Order: sequence, then structure tokens, then C-alpha cells
Amino acid sequence: MIYLKNREEIELMRESALMVSRTLGIIAREIKPGVIPATLDKLAEEYIRDNGGIPAFKGFKGARGVPDFPATLCISINEAVVHGIPGNTPLRNGDIISVDCGVKKNGFYGDHAYTFGVGEIAPELQKLIDVTKESLYLGIAQMVSGNRIGDISYAIQQHAEKHGFGVVRELVGHGLGKVMHEEPEVPNYGKRGDGPKIKEGLVLAIEPMINLGTKNVKQLPDGWTIVTADRKASAHFEHDVAVVDGKPEILSSYAFIEEALALIN
Ligand code: MG
Ligand code: MG
Repeated sequence: MIYLKNREEIELMRESALMVSRTLGIIAREIKPGVIPATLDKLAEEYIRDNGGIPAFKGFKGARGVPDFPATLCISINEAVVHGIPGNTPLRNGDIISVDCGVKKNGFYGDHAYTFGVGEIAPELQKLIDVTKESLYLGIAQMVSGNRIGDISYAIQQHAEKHGFGVVRELVGHGLGKVMHEEPEVPNYGKRGDGPKIKEGLVLAIEPMINLGTKNVKQLPDGWTIVTADRKASAHFEHDVAVVDGKPEILSSYAFIEEALALIN
């Protein structure tokens, strides 16, 4: 069942999305060699709770026998694709880190992500980051009334594969609302004209996960972290997007991150 949102609900969702955006902006200021991922996580949790939100990932149910997710942020470093648990190993110059954050506020979820370079990164990693971000925006451009989910998927896949990158199959974007993962699924690969129709009031979390090498992934024994099968790097960008007046409106924003990065660079 796909729940379409009215204008009031979309405004509440914008608030939740922007709370994640501001949290990522705070994290962006701190990312440098030597920083401990668990420290970033603490900062994010404090900011969200101080502003009346609830960290949505913390306590997220794991698969059978796996402990609930223990943190506010997913921090996925280098070969980690998504769902990395923020640890105590300091970030190193040349790492790339994908930071994903979810909050619940006013009963609605926000869920979005950005991949950062730590210090100086290799040109091939910068290209992976740039292409993944571009593929997100190309996907978003297809989120117009009358199109289908497959049009979003196709746009993302074409762009990533054109550059020789691997598109993860096992993890997908999703509908977003009063539940963090609603229907429909939004794969990052697919065919034009396939899948559910895009309608006014649809809200999606669109989130390409793109690998430098193989598309194949594995799960680490912690039951959460997904890594590339060839251990080459992966990038992940995610925005929350609503269909308003037939067109995509991005509810989240990278402006806070971009401001922070302009200050430190
Ligand atoms: Mg996310
Ligand atoms: Mg998501």
C-alpha cells in the first residue's frame, strides 16, 4: 500500500528531513583525519534530542539473533556500503565516509545521507562521489506525476554504469512517511516504464549506493555492516523527495553540509 501525503503532511515531513540535513551539517564540520566516528554519533544524537527529534536508527530491529542498531548515524567507511556502526577507529586521510541519518519528529521520518572525503582523497574516489551524487539528482528529475518508479531506477543505473561503476542490487530506496520504510521500493537499477506509477503526494527516499568495482556486496558478522564483495570503495547519497504540483520537490537539503565544507576548506 502506497500512502500519498497531503500538503500539511509534506510540510511536517520537510521539518523531519531538514532536521537530518542540519545534523549532517554539524557532522560535516567535524570530519577530518583523526576524528573518532563514535564521537560524531554522539554529536548527532545530542543535536537531534535537543531539538525535539528522536534518532530513528537507534534501536532499529536487527535480523534474528542480531542486536538492535546501536547508534544514531550509520557511518560506512571506504568498502562499507551502508549500515556501518560508528566505531572507535580514527578516520584516516584519504578515507571516504558515508553518513546516513534518520529522525522521527511529529510522527514523520526523515532519512538522508551524504558521502564525505576525509582530508585528501584519490581522484577515483572523488569521481565515485561525484557520479553517485549526480545519479541521485538524475533519479530525482524523473519523479514526476505520470512517470513510473522504473524511470527513476533507470536514470540512476545508466549514469553510474556509464562511468563503469557497480550498482548495488540488494539495497534500495523506499517510500517514507509515518514508517521509515514504506512502499514502494525504489531500486537503483531497472527499466523505464516499470513499477508503480508516480502520483501527487508520493514521498520517497531515493538513495543510490554505487561501488567503484563490483556491484556485489556482503554482510559483515556484526549483522549490520554491508561491504563490497571486492572491498573496493562505495558511495551513498540520499534525499527525501515529494511530488508537489506534479514535480519533484526535495524536502531535505545539502545546503548545511555545503556551508560547513566551504568553511573548513
Ligand atoms: Mg538512509
Ligand atoms: Mg533510506
